[in-house]
Amino acid sequence: MIKFENVSKIYPNGHVGLKNVDLQIEQGEFVAIIGLSGAGKSTLLRCVNKMHDISSGKLTVNGVNVTQLKGKEIRRFRSKIGMIFQSFNLITRTTVLGNVLVSLVPELSWWRRLLGVYPATAKIAGLKALDNVGILDKAYTRVDQLSGGQQQRVALARTLVGDPDIILADEPVAALDPVTAKIVMDDFQRINREMNISILLNIHHVDLAVAYADRIVGIRQGEIVFDGPTSAVTQEI
Ligand code: ADP
Ligand code: ADP
Repeated sequence: MIKFENVSKIYPNGHVGLKNVDLQIEQGEFVAIIGLSGAGKSTLLRCVNKMHDISSGKLTVNGVNVTQLKGKEIRRFRSKIGMIFQSFNLITRTTVLGNVLVSLVPELSWWRRLLGVYPATAKIAGLKALDNVGILDKAYTRVDQLSGGQQQRVALARTLVGDPDIILADEPVAALDPVTAKIVMDDFQRINREMNISILLNIHHVDLAVAYADRIVGIRQGEIVFDGPTSAVTQEI
């Protein structure tokens, strides 16, 4: 469902993001991408949802040649790809439910959002997504009153409500303490297994990658230097 064929990405300033990458990921896989800072992990994720364009090669996602997508097609294409960031990227002065529903009802007027008046079907979907990540009781709490781990779960619920095929997670646990990081990784694993959503997750903690993912991809200076099942991981990566 995601296929990189000899993909390179060179930034305008000459930095190498990706170099001759060949990578194929099937529906339902949980893949951890590991590597040092600057290795190209974020670049790889951002090419998948076309936040960045590749420089050469071919990238196919859900049967679509990503390079050829234009205008409105990009929005439709992205609607099935959830993205989670290290910094959560939430709207701080809004409730948890309001954040989750932003992607589902983007046209909602500011006063409805302020008063928490949402269309019933959207609301049910939002509450279901919150229940899925164990924070249903926080639906009407402002996100800036939550812990980092709870905020990351809000971000996760926000992607789930769009019914994605793929979740791209860029260092989702880097800002969390080790105990909370495990709780959030548990969420990713459960969602992957129960909902068959493919997960591509950047992480610099090798132990967490090995504990949770099915497959590890190691990247160094834009090149894939390791690709195999978690059981095959050695110390060298
Ligand atoms: P990470 O290691 O998590 O990717 P970075 O600090 O490298 O974080 O990057 C943060 C943001 O800055 C990203 O959006 C990335 O694309 C951008 N960025 C990284 N390096 C450069 C650079 N040399 N010039 C411009 N933007 C950059
Ligand atoms: P990682 O996520 O593994 O930390 P990145 O994909 O952010 O790595 O960065 C890979 C390389 O691309 C680095 O040399 C970084 O400086 C560069 N880079 C990333 N984003 C940009 C950008 N927006 N503009 C220019 N260079 C960038």
